[in-house]
Amino acid sequence: MEKVTIIGTGCAGLTAAIYTARANLQPLVLTGVMPGGLLTTTSIVENFPGFPEGIDGFELMTRMQKQAERFGARIKFGTVEAADLSRRPFALTVDGERVESRTIIIASGAGHRHLGLESERLLENRGVTYCATCDGALPIFRNQPLAVVGGGDSACEEATYLTRFGSVVYLIHRRDSLRASRIMAERALANPKIQPVWDSVVTEILDAQQGKVTGVRLKHVKTHAATTLSCAGVFVAIGHVPSTAVFKGQLELDPNEYVVPKRGTETSVPGVFVAGDCADHVYRQAVTAAGQGCAAAIDAERYLATQNV
Ligand code: NAP
Repeated sequence: MEKVTIIGTGCAGLTAAIYTARANLQPLVLTGVMPGGLLTTTSIVENFPGFPEGIDGFELMTRMQKQAERFGARIKFGTVEAADLSRRPFALTVDGERVESRTIIIASGAGHRHLGLESERLLENRGVTYCATCDGALPIFRNQPLAVVGGGDSACEEATYLTRFGSVVYLIHRRDSLRASRIMAERALANPKIQPVWDSVVTEILDAQQGKVTGVRLKHVKTHAATTLSCAGVFVAIGHVPSTAVFKGQLELDPNEYVVPKRGTETSVPGVFVAGDCADHVYRQAVTAAGQGCAAAIDAERYLATQNV
């Protein structure tokens, strides 16, 4: 039986792992499908304190994992398929295996939001991708026109990164101003290789029949005019959805399926704590996730103390 099981190895999960490991609770840390979380797909993280020159996202997460392991955290590759939070100890099914735990810290993060188009699904990994850092350097994208969809920090970051590879990068946004932070927006819009395409939504990605991306069909949201833009790749960067499906009906989720934190990192189930992007749709930063992971670890430790564990 585990004292603490942490679900997720992003900034929140690994910080919770460092703290619970240092508290001698030997946490079991489940990686989920994306060990290291979404930050591993970021090129350079410029705003994590302590790294004035920035740090590669993958390296930051590798360092956090090493730090957690140094104090006795056990990292296990696996995905939670089912959870029973109605019993004590809690029970999780991880890749078919049962794990029992006195406390759980949910730090399962969030996944990429999809446009929801059939053509997007058919062309995923055939020119449609959700991660410029992972896929931008692929030969099919070199010296080709590329499209990024979205208007937030992620879209600006992806577009800026892709200017290394593409001949031109269209930044397709459904409004006429970016949601991104000023520094990221200014950097993107000042880049001569980035061409914003305002007030436009993608209605279809071409060409599913050919099995590769040749362009996008766009609709102007104000004039309703339909146009086609040629490109060899579509990078979708329209935000995230929390990875909480397994907890539906077991603890309180908001209408967008984010876990609702109660006091501190407590959830509606005593003994289950939450941290990071699966509960936070406001700040969503590496450093705030790390802070919440720390808080969840302290809350779990105090909870265990009240249970005389
Ligand atoms: P975001 O801020 O939620 O932006 C999502 C963008 O996608 C918005 O511009 C939104 O349009 C658009 N969008 C949403 N659904 C859409 C749809 N169905 N069709 C077309 N467009 C759609 O998400 P994010 O850019 O991934 O950023 C998430 C968080 O991570 C933010 O807090 C951000 O600051 C942070 N982040 C930080 C950095 C950094 O500092 N280096 C880098 C990346 C992300 P509207 O604007 O019209 O809503």
